[in-house]
Amino acid sequence: MATETGTATIIDGKAFASTLVTRVGAAVERLVQSHNVKPGLAVVIVGEDPASQLYVRNKGETTLKAGMRSDTHRLPEDTTQEQLLALIDQLNADDGIHGILVQLPLPQHIDANAVLDAISPDKDVDGFHVVNAGRLAVGQDGLVPCTPLGCLMLLKDQLGDLSGLNAVIVGRSNIVGKPMAQLLLGESCTVTIAHSRTKDLPALCRTADILVAAVGRPEMIKGDWVKPGATVIDVGINRVPSKDPVKAAEGKTRVVGDVAFDEAAAVAGKITPVPGGVGPMTIACLLVNTYTAACRTIGVQPDDLLAR
Ligand code: NDP
Repeated sequence: MATETGTATIIDGKAFASTLVTRVGAAVERLVQSHNVKPGLAVVIVGEDPASQLYVRNKGETTLKAGMRSDTHRLPEDTTQEQLLALIDQLNADDGIHGILVQLPLPQHIDANAVLDAISPDKDVDGFHVVNAGRLAVGQDGLVPCTPLGCLMLLKDQLGDLSGLNAVIVGRSNIVGKPMAQLLLGESCTVTIAHSRTKDLPALCRTADILVAAVGRPEMIKGDWVKPGATVIDVGINRVPSKDPVKAAEGKTRVVGDVAFDEAAAVAGKITPVPGGVGPMTIACLLVNTYTAACRTIGVQPDDLLAR
């Protein structure tokens, strides 16, 4: 799903994600009919952070749209770690719940790693559990973090076979950069992971047939860092002041990626925009993971959701 511009093809992640949610919905319907199993996702949020509340609401609505069960557990800011762990235990034991997501960030008095590690790896639809990181590293079936999974789906949709392509991933976080590298290695790309200590990053980026930016620095990757015809996937979500000085003075912001879009689009073959590129794929892949987790509990092979 993409539109042509002057040079690069703009990869429309929003449209792809919407189609994917519809496909998951159809697969869910088949699962309910064939096995009487309705995938269920439990989202846990602690505290009142407005951005987190919005994310959780969106997740709940999209889950219901795909015909799944959606439970949201809203806990007060002063919830103790023990209370949260008790809820996770309860959800781990609930056969109607196939996916558990704890919205981050958690309040400071709670050890986020202890909570994430308490989620059963088979219900860990965020794919953050160390067991799932290990499964991905050794090529076993597990649950893969949603954002890199979404990037991979876009890449396969756009490029088909990725084998032999040079991929450079800028960023080595556990939730984006590292799993992205593992996934592309699994597709037989030649993968390089760059980070803040990498020398001559522009030259390295220019070697990439696939360039993935997951840095968190607004428009850091410039047009002349991009190899002509490359596919650029911009994961970054950065808030910067509005272009309109009056609005900027009022504190209004806009969202940009880690790639200087206009410059890069003049050189790249294909590029994701921000917003409307990778972002919408993250929630869609959360549903993919919940559906996959539900299929595995009953030993059913999940449908190929990329198949037309
Ligand atoms: P992290 O802060 O965890 O990691 C950032 C990475 O970028 C680190 O590996 C860091 O290197 C590297 N880095 C920082 N500065 C430079 C530099 N100057 N040159 C090269 N590398 C650098 O971020 P995340 O991976 O969590 O997120 C990255 C971006 O993706 C953010 O903008 C985030 O908002 C966005 N995001 C978007 C999602 C979506 O749904 N679209 C989901 C998740 C994240 P080092 O390790 O050496 O410090």
